[in-house]
Amino acid sequence: MSKSRYPDNWNEIAFKQKEKVKWQCQKCGVQCLKPGDKTAHLSKSDRAKLTLVVHHSNYQPEDNREENLICLCTACHLSYHTGKRGNISIGQLSLDLDF
Ligand SMILES: [Zn+2]
Ligand SMILES: [Zn+2]
Repeated sequence: MSKSRYPDNWNEIAFKQKEKVKWQCQKCGVQCLKPGDKTAHLSKSDRAKLTLVVHHSNYQPEDNREENLICLCTACHLSYHTGKRGNISIGQLSLDLDF
């Protein structure tokens, strides 16, 4: 699984974006987990649901202009992908979901 389409400082870009939206999903508004949050009481699937992902609006990971980036919870992120590209493979999506 290659991450070569992402820039070297992608983690940094994504983190800044998440900080900017205060770790809230920009679609449904759910408050996601941020580093340092206590998650021991959450199940693995709950933690996964509350993981904020930085999504590329135009589906081009190399386009990291701020207006192309949107922070989404896992459910909204999935709906963006399954809604727009019905034939997306799990592999493609999990690449995106790493962040
Ligand atoms: Zn959401
Ligand atoms: Zn995405």
